[in-house]
Amino acid sequence: MDFAQARWNEPLINQLSHTNQTSTQFTNEYPVPEKIRRRTSPALPELAEIDVIRHYTRLSQQNYGVDLGIYPLGSCTMKYNPKLCDQIASSHKIQEMHPYQNPKTSQGILQIMYETSNLLSDIVGVDKFTLQPAAGAHGEYTGVLLMQAYHADRNEASRDEIIVPDSAHGTNPASAAMAGYKVVQVPSINGCVDTEALKRSVGRKTAGLMITNPNTLGFFEREILEIADIVHESGGLLYYDGANLNAILGKAKPGSMGFDIVHLNLHKTFGTPHGGGGPGAGPVGVTKLLTDYLPVPTVEYDGKEYSLNYNLPKSIGKVRAYYGSIAVILRAYVYILLHGKDGLQTISEIAVLNSNYLAVKLSRIRGFELPYGNRILGKHEFVLSASKLLKETGVSALQVGKRLLDMGIHPPTIYFPTIVDEAMLIEPTETVSKRELDAVVSAFQKISDECYAKSEAIATSPHSTTVTRIDEAKASRPKTMQLTWRTKNGEMRER
Ligand SMILES: *Cc1c(COP(=O)(O)O)cnc(C)c1O
Repeated sequence: MDFAQARWNEPLINQLSHTNQTSTQFTNEYPVPEKIRRRTSPALPELAEIDVIRHYTRLSQQNYGVDLGIYPLGSCTMKYNPKLCDQIASSHKIQEMHPYQNPKTSQGILQIMYETSNLLSDIVGVDKFTLQPAAGAHGEYTGVLLMQAYHADRNEASRDEIIVPDSAHGTNPASAAMAGYKVVQVPSINGCVDTEALKRSVGRKTAGLMITNPNTLGFFEREILEIADIVHESGGLLYYDGANLNAILGKAKPGSMGFDIVHLNLHKTFGTPHGGGGPGAGPVGVTKLLTDYLPVPTVEYDGKEYSLNYNLPKSIGKVRAYYGSIAVILRAYVYILLHGKDGLQTISEIAVLNSNYLAVKLSRIRGFELPYGNRILGKHEFVLSASKLLKETGVSALQVGKRLLDMGIHPPTIYFPTIVDEAMLIEPTETVSKRELDAVVSAFQKISDECYAKSEAIATSPHSTTVTRIDEAKASRPKTMQLTWRTKNGEMRER
């Protein structure tokens, strides 16, 4: 066996089996009665305990995660999450609870939910939160339903348009469309919303505007107060996509910018590891204007006891079974208390500093540039364009991403936002050190050198991963996707 290769060519556990190798020895002191013994042995692989451990450890090494290295996936905020949050959330006191327990016996978790809502309200500057939505997109959908209920209540159900900027995260127009709205796109100038175009887009049909600030280019929308006025004067509401709160945590409040509805991604900003489809939480906060429409139940406190309130006649109803992803909410609660107000501010300061440091360094490397010039500094993330590299060497952002894998770096988000050619959206987060940022700079430098030297390594990369070139189109079509291990009719295949 080639031990260096073994990690990537890990066979199935059945193929590692050797007859009569066992992990556990049972004594014959208390023999199993003859009549209940098996007649034939179970078809289980036979391995020594150490081989079982090595097998699964090797498999675990085929993955990449935040706990292994930098994961600068722009817009997704892949940052290190304190293990303390996980530890508390996995306490048996939480795990053994049942959502239908009598609230009198679950005062502790109700208190945590109540206080988390208050802490989040304070952080974003709104009046009340629902913790129910299970993800960011689910929060958006909930928020759009709140908008709908608000307009219907005022006999303005004819407002059937939602405006989104051209830099918007794809879930924004998708959530609006799912709720039955027409999506109107407003263009940007120099990376920010074109307020003149916005004025022309609003009117009696406008239900609201969905926007993220800082936007997906990492720029803070400086005209946000004017934007809010334009939308409010037309009778619409302002929706804040707060999936990326890392940029402004403890520094600026969407509520003070004029937003009426805000969703947060607890699994991005507040201590829950994410990726692989959940669980997450996308709580939605609203100003007084909209509290009557929140999903039921809300958690209330009368000074003595916490309770679940289902009596909200104007509520949009339930948006999720039970009360939300409790373990994620609990992690957020721990995370906020762990950092405190000052700590939260420090998070955003370092996130922004790290991002700007990397932006300036990478923009000095041949082939890469900041599309709006590096004089406009951004917030927690930035877009680097590889369009010059493509023109001069034929190497695309996609290929740069593949080559980064060989250097032990997870590639950034690519080809998003769509308004920048050969976009690489990079978000280092506050949990990486300057040493790691410099390693990213060196990797990009090396890739640039290889591109201009017309190195073969680029075209065929990645070389050091479990699977190499995946067919981008086929990989997203379930029929041809091979989620299984590399076998064909039970045969081991060469890599
Ligand atoms: C991640 C993200 C979302 C969607 O959140 P999910 O939890 O993945 O549904 C929405 N908007 C922005 C800006 C995001 O980064």
